[in-house]
Amino acid sequence: MSKHYDVIIIGTGPAGLTAAIYSARANRSTLVLEGPEPGGQLTTTTEVENYPGFENGIQGPELMDIFRKQAHRFNAETVYEIANKVDFSQYPFKVFSDAPNEYTANAVIIATGARAKRLGIPSEGKYYGYGISGCATCDGFFYKGKKVFVVGGGDTAMEDALYLTHFAESVTIIHRRDEFRASRIMVERAKSNPKISFLLNSVIEEYLGQEKMNIKSLTGIKIKNVKTGEITEHAIDGVFLAIGHTPNTDVFKGIIETDEVGYILTKGKTTYTNVDGVFACGDVQDPIYRQAISAAGSGCSAAIDADRWLTEHH
Ligand code: NDP
Repeated sequence: MSKHYDVIIIGTGPAGLTAAIYSARANRSTLVLEGPEPGGQLTTTTEVENYPGFENGIQGPELMDIFRKQAHRFNAETVYEIANKVDFSQYPFKVFSDAPNEYTANAVIIATGARAKRLGIPSEGKYYGYGISGCATCDGFFYKGKKVFVVGGGDTAMEDALYLTHFAESVTIIHRRDEFRASRIMVERAKSNPKISFLLNSVIEEYLGQEKMNIKSLTGIKIKNVKTGEITEHAIDGVFLAIGHTPNTDVFKGIIETDEVGYILTKGKTTYTNVDGVFACGDVQDPIYRQAISAAGSGCSAAIDADRWLTEHH
């Protein structure tokens, strides 16, 4: 099947769906390819308390459902398909999906997001979102008076640990080496905080948890000292993974300019990429803020940029 749209948005989440609302409401025929994780990273979280407009908080998947319904209200189409190839060398642009379908579009908005790296050990999937988190800013608040671990030795680990001291009783930074990738000033700041301690040359071997009345929760971890091989067990309430993010840009490799990590480079304060008519918004171009609200904001910008670009070029 081949179908043409004014705007194709690749990826969902707050950025893609906000772009869809704005684009469809600007009367542009709009298609969203939802990708492998419809609704994006928020669907792997539970309570979202910092998205403005929901004073009592809202569940992540429910929030994304509302975004999607709002986009549908203005006739944006959404399909559960993954964009597995793009051809931006000809116009209109071509987007191929795993359905398999072939679409053409006058403008494309990339909103494929990023994913927090995971350790990839057994039971991580089971407790992810139930004691294991990839975002301290999002979930730190739930750990008031609790014992938490932060995994990693980079700036994010230091920053997350410092942030978590506002809530947690104790924060332990567990790092696989005894040298840090983080800047010295961040390490010093973490070291001088009385709530923060360090466990070096150590890795998490296993997550321990319980399931009571269908509610899962993390209760501890098994840790291995990589130098001595010694295994210890720790009773804790939360683990924050700060081992980096991976932007979802494989499909655009060699076509859309990225930084060395893979984040799409946008021009100045706009959402323009190096390809005229292709825009990027949300976490796929944001290694800094990575929040639902900032992603939604940039989704709005991308739809406005695309709409204005189409007006000028058609
Ligand atoms: P980094 O890639 O800098 O650090 C990742 C850390 O996670 C490393 O210490 C790495 O260990 C560890 N790690 C990676 N994989 C594993 C694994 N499988 N098991 C255990 N540990 C693992 O990522 P960050 O997110 O910290 O930072 C990304 C970029 O953003 C950096 O350039 C950073 O400077 C910047 N940043 C700046 C901030 C600021 O200035 N305020 C705040 C946050 C980020 P190892 O060192 O052994 O490789």
